[in-house]
Amino acid sequence: MTVFETSKTKFAESRNYLAGGVSSSLRASMKPVPLYAASGKGSHIRDVDGNEYVDYMLAYGPLILGHAHDGLTESILEAMRKGYTYGVQHQGEIELAQLLCEVLPCADKVSLSGSGTEAVMLALRLARAHTGRSKVIRFHGHYHGWSDAIFTSFPSADMKGHAANNDAAVSPGTNGQSANSLSDVILLPWNDKAALESTLRTRHLEIAAVITEPVMCNSGCILPEEGYLELIRDLTKELGIVMIMDEVITGFRLGIGGAQEKFGITPDLVTVGKALGGGIAISAVGGREAIMKLVDDGVVSHLGTLNGNGVSTAAAIATIRELRKDNGAAFAHIEGLTGTLVEGIRLLFKQHDVPGVINQIGPVFNFMFTEEAEIRGFDAYNRRDSAKYARFAELMLDEGVLVRPNGLWYMSTAHSEADIKKTLAAIGNVLLKLK
Ligand code: PLP
Repeated sequence: MTVFETSKTKFAESRNYLAGGVSSSLRASMKPVPLYAASGKGSHIRDVDGNEYVDYMLAYGPLILGHAHDGLTESILEAMRKGYTYGVQHQGEIELAQLLCEVLPCADKVSLSGSGTEAVMLALRLARAHTGRSKVIRFHGHYHGWSDAIFTSFPSADMKGHAANNDAAVSPGTNGQSANSLSDVILLPWNDKAALESTLRTRHLEIAAVITEPVMCNSGCILPEEGYLELIRDLTKELGIVMIMDEVITGFRLGIGGAQEKFGITPDLVTVGKALGGGIAISAVGGREAIMKLVDDGVVSHLGTLNGNGVSTAAAIATIRELRKDNGAAFAHIEGLTGTLVEGIRLLFKQHDVPGVINQIGPVFNFMFTEEAEIRGFDAYNRRDSAKYARFAELMLDEGVLVRPNGLWYMSTAHSEADIKKTLAAIGNVLLKLK
């Protein structure tokens, strides 16, 4: 039986001073206790009780190169020795911006911020300034950060106190958020071509943007139906609406150019974060000249004391360079391992007669317990057995594997065949215990 006593003590101690004991609400849901990390290296993380885990949580996505990657650490230290942040401009910003324009198909220019939430805030502001319209279409089950203007709930069972996931009305995602803050949001079901087309055709004169995750990674890793992203692209182009692809998860994960490259759909604006900095806080908005020009000309304000600081730009440059090495061998590696893992889990489902579905794209997948043959929509996702999965995640800790309690798994370049073998054995043991 794994011991979590030190984590438990620290969590109790922390709650005396740190509201909720965690720095991001989602982390509080971890069972049996929010773990306290001692260190991480490669694909492994150690907690303060001395337990070691193969890590598929990967800090909720940023650690695409794993923990404490040697090359990335060196680049960060080198940058730090020269000063962390300057408040004036520096070469790292130019280099990173150039690289981003090179790898992101829609980016003629970019703007740098610190988090995915901030990147989405800027993208929405740019879309409104560009079109002179206010409304924004977003979709059920997608997540675009926690800013008041877009947060309609975190689409996951592992966060309590939030609005119902499939609430048809646009209700705030949390207490304390003004209901008016969402008055410009139109919430639609995703992958529903008819709903999209009729809304856009009847209301386009008030709609500034359609924002979408290219794959619904935050709710079941559900793929776009054939022709759906194309339809968003075609209609927004025709009706003068800005298409924003939120690639905070898919960016630098589905390939160097993200989902837009993989699917061959070029949005007007893209938001990237998470994997971009390899674990250091940085995000970017990239887009076509006609829109990014608004920042250029000072028509749209974009601010942030630490935006584009020396450490974050160095981390992002090093991460991108690492991912581009050897013709993108890193992506082949993480996709290959994910494929092996997913096939292995599906086999275990059969062997143990456990009803489950895995939706996967490249190195990211969602693992769901369900009696349904497939999960291709938000409603089906909400019908999954989330309590059973949360129990599964807890039992996996005893087997030395760390996964998120909501079913979303990530893979890093540091993971190995040996990690996958160990993980499959662990899953087999846990499926037996769950019976
Ligand atoms: N957009 C998407 C698609 C996300 O998944 C997230 C975070 O999970 C965000 C935006 C917000 O990013 P951050 O947590 O860095 O603010």
